[in-house]
Amino acid sequence: MLDEKLLSINQVTVLRQWSLPETIEGLARHGLSAISVWREKLHETGVDEAARMLDDHAMTVTGLCFAGMITSPDAAEAEKARDDVRRALDEAAAIKAGCLVFVAGGVDPRDKDLASTRARARDGVAALVPHARAAGVRIALEPLHPMICANRSVISSVGIANDWCDAIDAEDVLGIAVDTYAVWWDPHLEAEIGRAGKRICAFHINDWLADTRDLRLDRGMMGDGVIDIPRIRRWVEAAGYRGFNEVEIFSERNWWKRDPVEVVDTCIERYRNFV
Ligand code: ZN
Repeated sequence: MLDEKLLSINQVTVLRQWSLPETIEGLARHGLSAISVWREKLHETGVDEAARMLDDHAMTVTGLCFAGMITSPDAAEAEKARDDVRRALDEAAAIKAGCLVFVAGGVDPRDKDLASTRARARDGVAALVPHARAAGVRIALEPLHPMICANRSVISSVGIANDWCDAIDAEDVLGIAVDTYAVWWDPHLEAEIGRAGKRICAFHINDWLADTRDLRLDRGMMGDGVIDIPRIRRWVEAAGYRGFNEVEIFSERNWWKRDPVEVVDTCIERYRNFV
């Protein structure tokens, strides 16, 4: 059964319309009490001010999005990227985020060896574990669609995320974010979600438009595309996940152009009927 209280909205869904304070106030006016925070918007407002506002509105912060991009074959560059993730972990702690969403990074043209890129990034995540533990924040490995393996993430499936979790062995601070847009195509999805079990610390919902025009910025509202979202939600719940269902829609052609009040209204209506 879908729990109506478990709706969270990732602020990227109204990225172009609202600042972080406006998003917090806008969601509160809609009677919503959970948000996922976009990092650039957090910096715009300032971490302390954002933390105060989130507290004042009693908002549950389901995640901070995102940090990562640590796949560089250059050791100094990779260390600099990991330092940025450490800063993001501290920010996530300051706003009491449920997790830091981690996007691994793509394949560097200087090193076309995908296997070694994955191994290097996995070791990079392992190096972040002590900081995550000290900050008390879970790193949520987010698999992204294989079509963006070159530029966004070499974690292309829940299976790969599970393999990294097995290898790193830090179950207390390492988890997985399951995003319907990124994983719906995978024939092993049900089994890998089952294998992930308690590792699942975020569930992102949105739809894949049949006529998609952009692999990143043309996500669909739930119900407008081809993903069987309730089926994937049931798998995630069967694996033991009891957290929020977070609407995360990047939409250059449609939702970023609309009145944000209408966008949030639509999220609520579609959540009830298509999730
Ligand atoms: Zn996501």
